[in-house]
Amino acid sequence: MAKFWLHKSLNNEEMNGQIILLLNTVVEQNYFQYNDQFFKLAKGTAMGSPISGTIAEIYLQHTENEYIKQWLDSKEICYYKCYVDDIILYNQNKTQAEQILHNINRIDENLQYKITTKEHRSINFLDLTIHRKENNIDISIYSKATNTDTTIHYLSNHPFEQKIAAFRYINRMITLSISQANRNMEWATIISTAKNNGFPENIIRNLRTKLALKKQKQKPTTKELNQKWVPFTFFGPAIRRIINLFKGSNIKIAFRTTNMIHKQLSKEPFNIQNPSGIYKLKCNTCNKIYVGQSGRAIDIRYKEQIRYVRTNNPQSAYAIHILQNRHEYGPSNNTLQLLKACTKGMRMNCWEAMYIQKFHQKE
Ligand SMILES: [Zn+2]
Repeated sequence: MAKFWLHKSLNNEEMNGQIILLLNTVVEQNYFQYNDQFFKLAKGTAMGSPISGTIAEIYLQHTENEYIKQWLDSKEICYYKCYVDDIILYNQNKTQAEQILHNINRIDENLQYKITTKEHRSINFLDLTIHRKENNIDISIYSKATNTDTTIHYLSNHPFEQKIAAFRYINRMITLSISQANRNMEWATIISTAKNNGFPENIIRNLRTKLALKKQKQKPTTKELNQKWVPFTFFGPAIRRIINLFKGSNIKIAFRTTNMIHKQLSKEPFNIQNPSGIYKLKCNTCNKIYVGQSGRAIDIRYKEQIRYVRTNNPQSAYAIHILQNRHEYGPSNNTLQLLKACTKGMRMNCWEAMYIQKFHQKE
C-alpha cells in the first residue's frame, strides 16, 4: 500500500525503498508489556504510537479509493462521507443496505463495519442528529447517551482558560446551520451544564458573545501569526502577575497543571517500614497533641525530639511543653503515631496544615 502511494507521488525508487524501510522499522515497534510479560501485536498498528493514526487514515483512504469510489461511480451508493471511523451513506433503495454492508465488510476481514439505520427519519452522525423532512433536512446537536455534564468545577484550582475550554463547543451551536428551536435547546443544555459545575451564567454568556464576534473576523492577523506559545506551570491565580509581564509581547502563555489524577493515584516512592510524613506526638500526662512533619523516617525524627527534651533544647515545641510543665513522654509506641505517609514537599505541607487544623478543632 505504501509502495502504491509513494510511486504515485515520488518517482524515485531509491528514496521510496528507504522510506519503506524506515516505515517498516517504525511500524514493527508494536510490542507492549503486561503483567511482567512482553507481547507483540499480530496485526494492526501500535497503540499510542504517533504514526498509528496517520497510517490508519492512509489505509482507510486507500480502501475508499480502491472500492468505494467505484461504487460511487457506478451509482451503487449515492452519497458517502466519512470521518475517522464514522461513515454516513445515502442510498435510494433500502433493500440494498445489507448488500452494501456485506461488500464493505469483504474489503478487509479486520475492518468490520456495523450498520445503524435511521429511526423516525433521523440518524446520528458524529455530533449531529440529521433529521429528514419532506424536502430538506434538519440538523440538531447530538450527545451520546453516555455523556455526563461534568466539567472541571468553576472553583477548582485550574487555569481559567482550561475550565472555560469545556464550553468552547458553544462554537458549533453558533456556526452550524441549525434551526432556532434546536439552537435554543442546545443553549439551555449548555447553561444547565454550566450551573451544575458552579459557573456563573454571565461568564458563559460572555464567551458566547466573544465566539460570535470571532466568527465574523475570520482571518488571524499577522501579529497573531507571529506569536509563540510558551508553557507555564499553573499553581494558583498568583501566577497571573508573572504572566502579565508578557502582555503586548509576541509570547502567548499556555498553562500546564501538575495536579493530575495520574499523580494523585500513583504511589509516591516511600519506605513502608520507616515512612516519612505527618506524625503526632502525645503528651502522656495531659494528652495534648503535637503535629509535625518529617522528610526523613519519623522514627529518626522522634529520637531527635526526645533528645531535645533530654538536652533541654528549646528548638522543639514538644520539648518545651514537656519541660515547662514537667509532663511525661514515651515510649515511642505510646507517644508517636504516623498520621499520613508522604514525601517532603508542597503536598506534605498541605497534609500537615490539615492535621493541625483537625486536632486544633478537637481541643
Ligand atoms: Zn502535657
